[in-house]
Amino acid sequence: MSAVELEDRKIGHVTVLFGERTGKYPHGNSLLVRGAGETILIDPSLSVIPRRDALPPIDRLLLSHCHEDHIAANFLFQDVPWHFHDEDLPGIRSLEDMLAIYGFPEPLRSLWKGVLVEQFHFVPSSDAVGFRDGDVFDLGQVRIRVIHTPGHTRGHSVFLVEPDDLVYLGDIDLSSFGPYYGEAWSDLEAFERTLEELRHLQARWYATFHHVGLLEGREAFLARLERFAAVIRDREERLLGFLTEPRTLDEIVEHRFVFRRKDGGIHIESVERRSMAQHVDRLLREGRIREVSPGGYRAASG
Ligand SMILES: [Zn+2]
Repeated sequence: MSAVELEDRKIGHVTVLFGERTGKYPHGNSLLVRGAGETILIDPSLSVIPRRDALPPIDRLLLSHCHEDHIAANFLFQDVPWHFHDEDLPGIRSLEDMLAIYGFPEPLRSLWKGVLVEQFHFVPSSDAVGFRDGDVFDLGQVRIRVIHTPGHTRGHSVFLVEPDDLVYLGDIDLSSFGPYYGEAWSDLEAFERTLEELRHLQARWYATFHHVGLLEGREAFLARLERFAAVIRDREERLLGFLTEPRTLDEIVEHRFVFRRKDGGIHIESVERRSMAQHVDRLLREGRIREVSPGGYRAASG
């Protein structure tokens, strides 16, 4: 696909670079923010690659988090600073550090290593720069404010672009799939706290990396956010229903609560396991399920 065929949308100082297939994975929507002094590119996806020659000079990269699809065009910008939240920063230092974010078991880990390099052009950086919640990037007449929103990864952050009143939500993508917390550096309950905090977010425009792309108006955002958050409760309720009989984690993973049975992908079993293990842990802690035999769980009666 050529750059001409890819759609852009300009809002004030921001250009949304819509990804191929409406930003469906492995693609995604990136953001170009042009200030009087600097131009920043946020989350350079695979779809940035065919646009390369159409882009203005980029002064720095800003990453919502350290995941393969968000850094897929970083390799084109190796002479400018890359910025990650402090807690995701270690992931970009080497391929081994990047793999720790996922925590995949072998043989998936070795397969994934190849995918990161061959499909997502992973290049390490030892001098990437960290940021924290509340940090502000001043581009000259435009500011990008960091809001730390952990859960998807430890360092996941969203960016509020002022004065254009646009927030870039990264992988809090408001999709019907729902929140993704299936890796070593993911955390279900941190994600839930993040979703709660985002209910108070005030902006006019909301951009996501995948699918939804761009929403206008806080009402539209809140409606999507509620639906997105409800997927977590739905997974947990379906799990409780499944545990009216004693089941092991293997049986839970086999049943599929996060993915559908027809979904394919080398990472699915690992992500399903990590996701649902967090639900099992929570339900055990709350006394809503019990371990009735070694590794066998059943819903607590009455
Ligand atoms: Zn991600």
